[in-house]
This record gives sequence, C-alpha cells and structure tokens, in this order.
Amino acid sequence: MADCEKNCSSCDKNCKERGIPKERPNERSRIGKIYAVVSGKGGVGKSSVTSLLAVCAAKAGKRAAVLDADITGPSIPKAFGVTEKATDDGKYIMPAVTKLGIKIMSVNMLLESDDSPVVLRGPIIAGTVKQFFTDVNWGDVDCMFVDCPPGTGDVPLTVFQSLPIDGIIVVASPQELVALIVEKAVKMAEMMNIPIVGGVENMSYFICDKCGEKHYLFGKSNFGQTLKARGVNDFATIPFDKALANLCDRGAIEDETQGYLKDFTKKLL
Ligand code: ADP
Repeated sequence: MADCEKNCSSCDKNCKERGIPKERPNERSRIGKIYAVVSGKGGVGKSSVTSLLAVCAAKAGKRAAVLDADITGPSIPKAFGVTEKATDDGKYIMPAVTKLGIKIMSVNMLLESDDSPVVLRGPIIAGTVKQFFTDVNWGDVDCMFVDCPPGTGDVPLTVFQSLPIDGIIVVASPQELVALIVEKAVKMAEMMNIPIVGGVENMSYFICDKCGEKHYLFGKSNFGQTLKARGVNDFATIPFDKALANLCDRGAIEDETQGYLKDFTKKLL
C-alpha cells in the first residue's frame, strides 16, 4: 500500500503487507494493548507469569483481561479460582470476571469437567483461539494478555498471525537454552512484524529459608543480556517461590503480595 507505515499492530487495514488478515474485536469489545506471553516449552511458568501480569495491571488501575490460548493445557482459571462455566449475552460469550475485575476466557469454561482432556488438532485449536477473541463480549479492556500455547510451532504462529498483537513477552527458566529460545522468539516476532517487549526469567533463583542468601541452582543465566543485545530492556526475574506455587494451586493468585512483576508491567501499560 502506498501509505503503509509498516506498523501493522496499530493499523486496521487488511492489506498484503500484513499477510494473514488480523481478527477484529466485535462491536461490544474495545481492547487496548494486546500482549502474547510465550515460552520455549511447557512448565516454565508461562501461565503463572501471564496471571501475574494481569494482576499487576489490575492493581495499577487498568482494566485487564486474559485470553487463555493454551487450549490443550489451560491453567488460567485454576490460578484465579474461576470455576464457573461460560454464559452468553444472547450474541457473544461472556468472560468470567475475577475479584479484581480481570476478565478471563478459557476452554475450561466450556468443558463439563476441568479434567476432561482437550483432544483437538492444530487448525481447530487455532480456530478456538480466534473465536475467543472475536466471539467474546470483552467490553472495555485496557490490556489483554494472551497465554500462548508453549513452543514456536504451528499453533502459536497462527495465534500471532490472527490476533492484532502489540508485543511479545518471552518467559524462560534458567535451565533452558535461553539463547536459542530468544533467537527463535526474535525470528518469529520479525516474521510477524511484532516487537518483543520484555522477558521474564522464572524460577531464576532460590532464597534459602535459613541463610536468606540467593542461590542460583542452575547458575546465573544470560537471558537479560541476550535480550538487551536485541534491544529489549524490560526484564524481570522471579525466584522459585513455593508460596507463589501455592497461590496458583489454591486459585488465589490475586492475593500475591511480592509484586515481582510490578515494575515490569508498568512499562507495558
Ligand atoms: P506453564 O504455563 O509454562 O506450563 P505454569 O505457570 O503452569 O507453567 O507453572 C507450572 C508449575 O510451576 C505450576 O504448578 C506453578 O504453580 C509452578 N510455578 C510457576 N512459577 C513458579 C515459581 N516462581 N516458583 C515456584 N513454583 C512455580
């Protein structure tokens, strides 16, 4: 397009430059910033980080939402203690609303029982994620965090391609090959024309109950420096914290008081 500014995330035109057309929110939804939270593999704390980001945003006075795109391993409702099933407004699906007012949509809210396995193939998963964006009455949201499926395969790629994402947040744990994960995330982000806006190293260290010292069980990683070398300066670490795991397991993530991601989140709002 003649007037293309190469800034697809803030442009609403569906043109060739953009590649695959981005989904638009429905007429009952006004969504501000959208961030995709990604990880190289499962179990590194991506969902916990996504939940904490939404909690920090809500505590900073923003209207926050979480779209749980981790369709085959949904853990967002559990972290927030959301057990109710989805309802509708006659036209669109209504999200769950937490104590702090965070809006949540997850496949768990459509399943009869939380332990039902979600056996779906890639294209159906991608379609479900799109519907969570287009067919939910999100109302007014300042920032939405999308808990992406783990990895850099076909499904996360489709998520990026189909949603108007403003930035990517990479979550890793120190035992991973961080340089490789960052490299993959950077390549994916470049392909999609979406910036990486920050990184979180989860289970970064452990504080000893007895001596109070920080112990880097896997050695100090260079995640922060790797991101910095790529021009990404928003970086945070979260220690291995059994109280945090306990809050997630009890559905009480909103009661978290450590504020590990408070400053990190502020830069995104
Ligand atoms: P992912 O979304 O990457 O699969 P989760 O966020 O579901 O990972 O976390 C996996 C498990 O690790 C959960 O039981 C969670 O409570 C726990 N966990 C996450 N972060 C921490 C942490 N910083 N300290 C202790 N346990 C954690």
